[in-house]
Amino acid sequence: MASTQSLDVVIVGGGLGGMTAALSLRQRGHHVTVLEQAPRFGEIGAGIQTAPNASRVLLGLGLRRQLEAIHTEPQDQVRRRWKDGSIIGLTQLGDYCKRQYNAPYWHYHRADLHGVLTDACVDPTGPGPVVELHTSSRVDELDRGSPRRPAAVTEDGRRFEADVLIGADGIRSRVRDLMGLPDTLLFSGEMAFRALIPGDLIAADPATRFLMDRFQSTIWYGPDRHLVHYMIRGGEYLNVVGCVPCTDDVAEKWTGSATAEDLVNAYEGWDDRAAAMLSKAKEDVLSFALYHRRRDPVWMDGRVALLGDACHAMLPYQAQGASQAMEDAAVLAEELGRINADGVEGALRRYVDRRAKHAGMVQDASLQNKTFYHYPDGPQQEARDALLRRGFDGESD
Ligand code: FAD
Repeated sequence: MASTQSLDVVIVGGGLGGMTAALSLRQRGHHVTVLEQAPRFGEIGAGIQTAPNASRVLLGLGLRRQLEAIHTEPQDQVRRRWKDGSIIGLTQLGDYCKRQYNAPYWHYHRADLHGVLTDACVDPTGPGPVVELHTSSRVDELDRGSPRRPAAVTEDGRRFEADVLIGADGIRSRVRDLMGLPDTLLFSGEMAFRALIPGDLIAADPATRFLMDRFQSTIWYGPDRHLVHYMIRGGEYLNVVGCVPCTDDVAEKWTGSATAEDLVNAYEGWDDRAAAMLSKAKEDVLSFALYHRRRDPVWMDGRVALLGDACHAMLPYQAQGASQAMEDAAVLAEELGRINADGVEGALRRYVDRRAKHAGMVQDASLQNKTFYHYPDGPQQEARDALLRRGFDGESD
């Protein structure tokens, strides 16, 4: 598993992508430093899904025991019609994914998943040298005076030199700007409400109790908006993501806070069960303007490369943004695991070759879902629903 030569790798950004990359590179015997601008490592209070492609990467890091302690496994994914909640599609997950893809489809609280990755970075019994983690370290400059040893320079003037420098610093990547890459950011015109609803409130109400069944993951399709929800922490919370046209103030500020009333109002006229669920969102409803990136295959320059949202931010309409970043991490580590310090640029080129086209396809497919999910009632919606019903008996509840 260890590389032919241990490299110094600096990763800018300790999100899910950066931390998965840190662990993947550690596993290959590299010496990794993560620079995170926030005062502590962590994630927002919300859920995340990892489909088998990402679960496989995480399990490959030797984290099965830790992930089994924090995951929730949905048995299927249900698609519902906005107006009456009738089921228009059902995809098996659970055992089917494990049989079919040899890896599970799991849900987590983001903070739990991030915590597992962070703990593994500094676990002295793990493979390779422990990862050096620096918080309150906002990178503001790159020093590329020595092309074989680029350096990240923090706002307060600290210099971190490396054989390889990775920008995993998210959708508004500073590293990307410093590399001089084109501005590919696009505004989708939509925003996402996010809320965690206590599972006991859902279970106590006969109108919403059905949501506990089989820990189903659900997408409701409606005209110009959709609604996603799934259980995390074994039913402790229902994670809700509501995607609707963006208001001007959220578009301008990128984020905002909202109330249960805002959520209920956003889905006015929908099946009563949607309102029954959304009215239980007591606190911390957040809203995020949804930006994404135009497809662009340039992810590297010399010994500096990008990973995750920094290069392929996508709409969350396939739940694949972090999962693609995890795939990036695995491929990057594989390529950097086969070389010595002379081979870094070639390895980065192979990493980009193997990843950019695939991630670009997922970006495109996520964008297409913006149309597919949001058809107004009419012939296109009927054709879509007929397509989704194919292979499914149209059961209702
Ligand atoms: P980020 O998570 O943005 O991390 C970047 C890190 O870099 C941050 O910690 C930041 O503080 C740090 N940073 C930034 N600038 C600097 C700097 N200059 N110096 C130092 N540090 C810096 N994906 C899934 O796979 N499954 C899902 O279910 C899913 N659901 C989603 C739901 C919603 C509503 C949204 C909006 C997205 C969802 N995604 C999902 C996408 C996923 O959240 C992102 O794609 C993923 O978090 C990106 O990870 P990243 O590590 O590339 O970037």
